[in-house]
Amino acid sequence: MRDSFDIHSNDNALFTTAMCSNRCLMCCQPPSEKNDIDALWGKNLKLVDTAPKELPSIGITGGEPTLLGKRFFELIRHIRSTLPDTEIHILSNGRAFADKEFTRQLGEIGPEKILLGIPLHSDNQVDHDLIAGARGAYTETLIGLYNLARWSFDIELRVVLTKLNYQRLPKIAHFIYRNLPFVRYISLMGLEYIGYTIKNANRVWIDPVEMATPLCTATLFLDAVGLNVSIFNLSHCVLPKKVWPFAKKSISDWKSRFEPFCEQCILKEDCCGLFATSRRNSAYLKPIKIL
Ligand code: SF4
Repeated sequence: MRDSFDIHSNDNALFTTAMCSNRCLMCCQPPSEKNDIDALWGKNLKLVDTAPKELPSIGITGGEPTLLGKRFFELIRHIRSTLPDTEIHILSNGRAFADKEFTRQLGEIGPEKILLGIPLHSDNQVDHDLIAGARGAYTETLIGLYNLARWSFDIELRVVLTKLNYQRLPKIAHFIYRNLPFVRYISLMGLEYIGYTIKNANRVWIDPVEMATPLCTATLFLDAVGLNVSIFNLSHCVLPKKVWPFAKKSISDWKSRFEPFCEQCILKEDCCGLFATSRRNSAYLKPIKIL
């Protein structure tokens, strides 16, 4: 955990708890059973109090930050009053927002400068619950998304790309268009080979190059229907050229690295690079020398 925030960093986040109500098969930060909320609370308030006033963005992450209960709202209110110009980016599995009363409490704080990043693993309950490792997760997450939309919150829908869902990406894209067109952003996210992804590698890992066709179809469809789609955590050299415009420099600055051969790559400036923490990468990395 950080001792202070850096205004030049693209990753200033409050780690609120390691506990989680999901058990995602590819979780990069396997959850803990130990209640650590009290232990982290004071440190997080201090981080907010000592943050530069011009901090552009602050993350609230875990684990599952809504497990803080009332303190979840207290923390957001504290950021609002201390750093009124800072955007708040909450990463949550969205399940707690199935409770209208819980969502109302966030709604009363107001949707301004709040973005909620919420994962959708599939267009169907069986696959979503399997990947989330929690029965009922799909239904609660979807109800949560609708409840948040009623309060006009900005939502970033996150689809983590795994062996279990990549073939359905075009179906997931249609599902989003038909049922969740109100989301502000859709992020299609490459895996970090760490945590439960290592443990469940045979079930979740696939070389990104092998998912090129469904990934392109889904990305281009979402763009064509006017939704704001991006590809995160996948370097340009593992993606077909037609989706390069959607690939973002998404890996936190302290977590990214490049191979020596990247120096010969003409797209290095635009590329997200590789997770420094990943124990495995695509077998197809290579410098791009001509466009
Ligand atoms: S060679 Fe390196 S810089 Fe170029 S696209 Fe691949 S990972 Fe990115």
